[in-house]
Amino acid sequence: MTTASVDVDSARRAYEELVGRGLSLDITRGKPSPRQLDLSADLLTLPNGEYRAADGTDTRNYGGLKGLPELRRIFAGPLQVPAEQLLAAGNSSLELMHDTVAQALLSTLPGGQRRWADEPRVAMLAPVPGYDRHFNLAERFGIELIPVPMTETGPDLDEVERLAAGDAAVKGIWCVPKYSNPTGVTFSDETAARLAAMPTAAPDFRIFWDNAYAVHHLTEVETEVADILTLCAQAGNADRAFVFGSTSKITLAGAGVGFFGASEANIAWWLGLIALRTIGPDKVNHLRHARFLKDTDGLRGHMRKHAEIIAPKFDAVDRILTEELGESGLVSWTKPAGGYFISLTVPDGTAKEIVRLAKEAGIALTPAGATHPHGDDPADAIIRIAPTFPEQAEVEEAVRGLAVCVRLAAAQRG
Ligand code: PLP
Repeated sequence: MTTASVDVDSARRAYEELVGRGLSLDITRGKPSPRQLDLSADLLTLPNGEYRAADGTDTRNYGGLKGLPELRRIFAGPLQVPAEQLLAAGNSSLELMHDTVAQALLSTLPGGQRRWADEPRVAMLAPVPGYDRHFNLAERFGIELIPVPMTETGPDLDEVERLAAGDAAVKGIWCVPKYSNPTGVTFSDETAARLAAMPTAAPDFRIFWDNAYAVHHLTEVETEVADILTLCAQAGNADRAFVFGSTSKITLAGAGVGFFGASEANIAWWLGLIALRTIGPDKVNHLRHARFLKDTDGLRGHMRKHAEIIAPKFDAVDRILTEELGESGLVSWTKPAGGYFISLTVPDGTAKEIVRLAKEAGIALTPAGATHPHGDDPADAIIRIAPTFPEQAEVEEAVRGLAVCVRLAAAQRG
């Protein structure tokens, strides 16, 4: 049954049959699969008793607040940050984003007039659909989130420019510039240039440039985004961008390395504050990562192996949605060239019901609304699919089941 006028009885029968199968499948979070983690098995034995960095530093000891230089050099190109301005830190970029917001609340940013905590209101622009954890962390600090629609080329820049120029409380914007979570969109050069150059009412406005999927290509095409730090500097806004990245979906998601890059002034601000928090990062982890990846080519080869494992899962989602729902006129979905997610747009007002139906049938989906601030998608129409973690057969089964739920929810709605 693949027509818009799907009949409720047959949709219900198909759903009952699905429930009867007693499935237990999960396509919720964007985690690497065990097979992907196995690609980095050598990290469990590296650095093989060695502990000296290229410059002779004993990585076992305290110090080296900026992180190991050889690892920063490997990631300088992919993250488009000069190695001197790129810090290698702990195991998570999300914690760096969290701490950056916390530090901005507590200590005046370069170019700022006062701490964000002393402002009557602090707001950030939230491109939607977007990454739930960005939104959660802003909400936790009482930061207002102003949704801005995503387009094929990045956030709606007319709207971003209007809001940033018109309201001094708007202190920043969340961006996943490449293979965005969850739409897969890569920002166009024009989007990046306008973000870098636009007038902002807040003198300490910051672009949170979360380049989480910088090297996570699913095809032969290695999509590139514009170099935001250079664009900001050229536009006379050198301090505007904070760049984040990590090896979470390159090596080991729980034991990788997070990176933070910014202008010299921002880095000096950050190091002065972070020195109170730590005497130095885990340089042994940095060293084993540098030995494992070797150089930018090593990184590229490693990412190809990831693509070989996960691209077939993305292809399967696309193929099954096409087979099951392609002709229905009910849904549309993204076909990303990289990253970890597919965004499924279902009829307005049905996303929550579809997720509920799927749960009852043993298929766990990310809660509907998670892609929007406060978990509230006003259209109730976006479902995020994360196909990387389950086995290929499980992905296929889950998406076929999801299609059954879409048809039933649509039929019930009439
Ligand atoms: N940023 C984005 C856009 C993500 O999708 C994720 C994980 O899904 C993260 C950051 C988390 O990064 P990390 O593991 O480095 O904290």
